Amino acid sequence: METVSKKPKDMYESVKEQFENAANLMGLNSNIKKILSATNNEIIVNFPVRLDNGEVEVFTGYRVQHNNALGPYKGGLRYHPSVDINAARALAIWMTWKCSLAGLPYGGGKGGIQIDPSKFSKSELERITRRFTYALGDNIGPDIDIPAPDVNTNSEMMAWIADTYMATKSPSNRNAFSHVVTGKPVGSGGLEGRDRATGYGVVVSIQAWADWKKTSLDGKKYIVQGYGNVGQWASIFMKEKGAILISVQDASGTIYNENGIDPEELLEFASKNNGNVNGFPKALELKSSTFFSLECDICIPAALGNQITENNAENIKAKLIAEGANGPINPDGESILLRNGVDIIPDILCNSGGVIGSYFEWLQNKSGELWIIDDVMPKLEKKVIHSFNSVVEAASEYHTDFRNAAYIVAIKRIEKTYIQRGVFP
Ligand code: GLU
Repeated sequence: METVSKKPKDMYESVKEQFENAANLMGLNSNIKKILSATNNEIIVNFPVRLDNGEVEVFTGYRVQHNNALGPYKGGLRYHPSVDINAARALAIWMTWKCSLAGLPYGGGKGGIQIDPSKFSKSELERITRRFTYALGDNIGPDIDIPAPDVNTNSEMMAWIADTYMATKSPSNRNAFSHVVTGKPVGSGGLEGRDRATGYGVVVSIQAWADWKKTSLDGKKYIVQGYGNVGQWASIFMKEKGAILISVQDASGTIYNENGIDPEELLEFASKNNGNVNGFPKALELKSSTFFSLECDICIPAALGNQITENNAENIKAKLIAEGANGPINPDGESILLRNGVDIIPDILCNSGGVIGSYFEWLQNKSGELWIIDDVMPKLEKKVIHSFNSVVEAASEYHTDFRNAAYIVAIKRIEKTYIQRGVFP
């Protein structure tokens, strides 16, 4: 293989290039292009937290609000060493497109803290989360900006955010603010099924792809990168389709079994192993670098961004890549994949089940209702299939790939709003 010395494009460079490509292809109004090229607000907060040993540490939190033409900013908070202003920008912009494509009344936002949460105790994480919420103040709110879980954040943390935010409001109407955040635990205003919503949406979109290809998922071999919320649930739903999980990679290692790994058994093992898949007894350990070149039908990257680049795209054997993660493929990697005839279900479509579930939770809180899972999952499925079909249609109209098509559908909806409303003053 040729040696590539240039550093692959990062997520922010990727999202800008993707936007540029789609905007040119659709002939986006040049004034609206200027508006969408900038992020509306970038909030950086430094806040102190007392650690268990009595020392105080100052943490830096980010929240980027890209665009709110369609409604309040919406998007997750991630706790990871890779979080910085450019990562938050890229992820916020992807949320704008994702919410628009899904037909939700939301704009895009994203944020987080640059920490490795495994280095902190639970009570430290609680204090960090609460103090971050307090520092964000009224930059978030049910009709302003609504955070949710993302990488390394979970429903318990969302409950801390809701509780902290609500505590800053007058006791007489505190409960009117529970939808300041989504992805809360069921019992604290959370939605039944929100836990599995992203993984479910991933598999609904893969099934829609299979229907479009006139093929079945039964017996298809697939690999998953990341065994967090998205990877786990996607694998469980892929099993229901009869697909065979042959390899899983996470930060701890890469495991492989050509006869199949049972997603539930792996989940049970990982939950007793700090969430890690390495050491799973019914699989072999592989060298990490071999993961993406494994012989398989479908690859589901469901971890971090920038995993498939010009440095490894050529080796990929999968016929479909379903982007459970945000931004797992950079544009140079994507060009190689498209040239090789690999189909890609882009992140803003593939993983939109999560924010669609969040929207249902927000509606549920707003109207004081409690929905049941049997009502939630079919509603979610319908929305993802509708988006998939609109992407297929745009791809054929513009003679382009699914990512460009998804961007065009998403951007058109925002363009229409700006044209209808004009620009103040
Ligand atoms: N973090 C998820 C995403 O990237 C969910 C966002 C949300 O529910 O607001 O789509």
